[in-house]
Formats: sequence, structure tokens, C-alpha cells
Amino acid sequence: MFKSIAVRKSQGTQYIPDLRAATPGGFRGKPVISDAACADGCQACVQVCPSRAVRLEPTQPDPVHIDLGRCVLCGDCEPVCPSRKLSFNNDVKLCATSREALTVSSAHPNLDPIKVSKALHKRFGRSLKLRSVSAGGCSGCEMEINALSNVNFDLGRYGIDIVASPRHADALVLSGPITRNMAQALQICWDAIPEPKLVIAVGACAISGGVFADSDALDRQFLDNFKPALYVPGCPAHPLTFISGIMDLLGIAP
Ligand code: SF4
Ligand code: SF4
Repeated sequence: MFKSIAVRKSQGTQYIPDLRAATPGGFRGKPVISDAACADGCQACVQVCPSRAVRLEPTQPDPVHIDLGRCVLCGDCEPVCPSRKLSFNNDVKLCATSREALTVSSAHPNLDPIKVSKALHKRFGRSLKLRSVSAGGCSGCEMEINALSNVNFDLGRYGIDIVASPRHADALVLSGPITRNMAQALQICWDAIPEPKLVIAVGACAISGGVFADSDALDRQFLDNFKPALYVPGCPAHPLTFISGIMDLLGIAP
């Protein structure tokens, strides 16, 4: 009996009361790009990056740009930089509502705050049902999406739940780079979700193809036709990144 009480007590402390204030220790989050000048002719960060997330514009005052839609947060660019220009903080608030808004540089160090969508707040602010589709993902993002419902994050407290059928869903949560083998299944799932509905792209793979972007096994036409309402970067995306983005977009008070 004492063992059971101890387990219950331990489970109780896992619950995160304030999801907006929570900051995960040890998390590699937002890139921080300093004003330090780049070493002459250096391209070390570009060369080491596995997902072509770094863009160099040497003639610009802020020559280094990191695209969080591509970045897998591996951290490999940090130690190779001779100018110690790159580092990462533990900020989980990495979401954006447009693809273009996901790029940071020394001149634009912070992502634009997500504006509340009045239309989405009115429609889904108290209840949003999510249908998750892994379109060729590695299961990393899928596990983090599942974690949204666990005792720690308990996103259901705000009426946001994962559902089993697209017929019961309001939003398609897309993870994975969209392989050709999953393209039709993804479209069928989307077609089965009743209007009004939205797409949420989770993880570097879904947003840009990630490290698989150049693979000819992908068919990403779906995203040409249906623009995500929310982009959730990461590899995998952290549950708190998803939570902060969706709460901001829907205007959910803490
Ligand atoms: S942390 Fe991001 S930008 Fe840096 S090497 Fe890894 S993927 Fe590229
Ligand atoms: S940020 Fe660092 S690694 Fe990248 S080009 Fe500049 S000096 Fe080189």
C-alpha cells in the first residue's frame, strides 16, 4: 500500500501546472547568433549542417541566417565556429504562422510573436481535436505528439485532444517528410476531416523535408495545396513548443 501511495505521489509531482512558464532543463532551443564578425572566407557552419539550415550572406551586416524550419537542433554548428558566433538557449517558443517567419539572424534574433487568430479562437478556443498523421516520420515527433496527452503536459485540460478518427478531428497534425508512399493516405485523411479544418506541421521533416529534403522518395505536393496554420520546429519538436504555439494561436489563457 505504501508503495502505491509513493507512486501516486510521484505521479502527482509530474504534472506541470503552468505550461507557458515551463522551461525544460538541458533543452537545445532557439539559436542565438552573435554580432561577432565571421572569420574570413569561413563556411564551417554551412558545411557541417546536415539539413542546409544555415544561409550565409557575407556582404550583409548579419551574414548568418538559420532557418528553424530546416534546423534539426543538432548543435553541430556551435563548436566548429571559429568566431564563437553560434549558441543555443533553452527557449521552447519556436513556432510561427508562416514559413518565412522561421528564420533568425543577429539582426532578427527573435521569432515574431504569434498573433491570436480571432477566427480560430472563436471556433476552436475551447475545443480542438487533433488527428495525427506520420507521413514517413521516424516516430520521434510522433512520440512527442503523444506526450501532449500524458500526465506531464495534459493538454486535454484546455480541450485539446488527439482523436482516433479524422471524422472527429478539427486539425491535421502532420509529422514526417511526406514520403510518396504516404502522400495518398495523407490526402485521404485530410479529405475525411470536416470543414473548417487546419494543418499543423510538426518537426523539421514536415516543415521542410528536414534531412530528407533532397530525397526523390518524397512527394510534398500536399503542402503546396494546404498551407499550415502553425509551424512547430524541432527534431523532434518538444511538446512545450507545440503547446506554446497552439495556445498563442488560439488565444488560450494560461
Ligand atoms: S543546429 Fe541547426 S543550423 Fe546548426 S548544424 Fe544543426 S541543423 Fe544546422
Ligand atoms: S558563423 Fe562561424 S562558422 Fe559560420 S561562417 Fe561565420 S565564422 Fe564561420
